[in-house]
Amino acid sequence: MKKRIAVLPGDGIGKEVTKGAINVLQAVGERFGHQFEFTYGSIGGGAIDAHGTPLPEETIEVCKKSDAVLLGAVGGPKWETLPGHLRPEKGLLRIRKELNLYANLRPVSYYSSTAATSPLRQEVIEGADMLVVRELTGGLYFGKPSERSTAENGEDSVVDTLFYKKSEMERVIRLAFQLAEKRDKKVTSVDKANVLESSRMWRETAEEIAKEHPAVKLEHMLVDNAAMQLIRNPKQFDVLVTENLFGDILSDEASVLTGSLGMLPSASISENGPYLYEPIHGSAPDIEGKNIANPIAMILSAAMMLRTSFNLDKEAAAVENAVKQVLESGSKTSDIALPGQKTIGTAEMIEEIKATI
Ligand code: ATP
Ligand code: MG
Repeated sequence: MKKRIAVLPGDGIGKEVTKGAINVLQAVGERFGHQFEFTYGSIGGGAIDAHGTPLPEETIEVCKKSDAVLLGAVGGPKWETLPGHLRPEKGLLRIRKELNLYANLRPVSYYSSTAATSPLRQEVIEGADMLVVRELTGGLYFGKPSERSTAENGEDSVVDTLFYKKSEMERVIRLAFQLAEKRDKKVTSVDKANVLESSRMWRETAEEIAKEHPAVKLEHMLVDNAAMQLIRNPKQFDVLVTENLFGDILSDEASVLTGSLGMLPSASISENGPYLYEPIHGSAPDIEGKNIANPIAMILSAAMMLRTSFNLDKEAAAVENAVKQVLESGSKTSDIALPGQKTIGTAEMIEEIKATI
């Protein structure tokens, strides 16, 4: 059956790397006999220039009618001085909301061929392979009240509210367990249960969901310890699941462990689809148009899409293996090369991965 994919290239290198994902998907379609139909939509700065809004209604419609959404990146210095509601990033926040995306998935995998760019010693990072699952809809980011006020003694004061519904905890923790079933069958649930009531409910919920998945081992870890363990011994993690704020921080920490912003994909999940796939890096305006951006994060996002939205496991593996092979053959973009090493450009990297598929 035809798979409908909404493509939102966005700004900066978003456009360059998105081209890579499309090329690779076309190669997958040819080799395995699938039909992918791409419909383009505008988002971010480009959409502000063309339509006066960072997320035109048309784009929302295109996404909602698709089976999956591929997003490049948004933003750039050109739009930084615009008023708040006209910022490219608003487009991103809005599309996440429109699609009801409740969980963000960030796989962090070690690649031997880029290990030298990791901040960790080889023996610490070698073989690490984890998936960070972050809750996206609740917690401190959306709790009401969130406001300034005046305390009794006249001093300025402020309140942010951490609010979660049980069902919000259940669905993201259940997703983590389902994903762990397909991986190494271990879930690390991260909280601050020694201090926070919300964390105690999180922990209880994790215990309840664990009963539905007897094959998966559940472990609880306090967030301060988790921050430390990610650096001391990242190999102990398989699936790590946590609430919104902790997840924001830990997923950024996890993403630098392998040393390569340009290599890491992500997926955001909703209850009824479509899911959204994007590289973890931004629009990198400093390297736009220079043919030096690493397209691999975006290409691996397309691989995640094949596996997660379409259940095309062998096709996803073909993309991931092609990336591995090309890297192992010594082809590197400048962000993952060592000083003095020969590098190739964005277009050449895309071409090599495509040819390997
Ligand atoms: P955002 O606010 O969207 O996160 P940012 O400016 O914080 O954007 P990025 O756009 O991700 O972060 O860029 C951070 C740095 O990493 C930049 O110097 C950029 O050149 C580099 N970088 C990001 N993505 C890539 C990539 N795919 N290939 C090579 N270098 C990259
Ligand atoms: Mg950033």
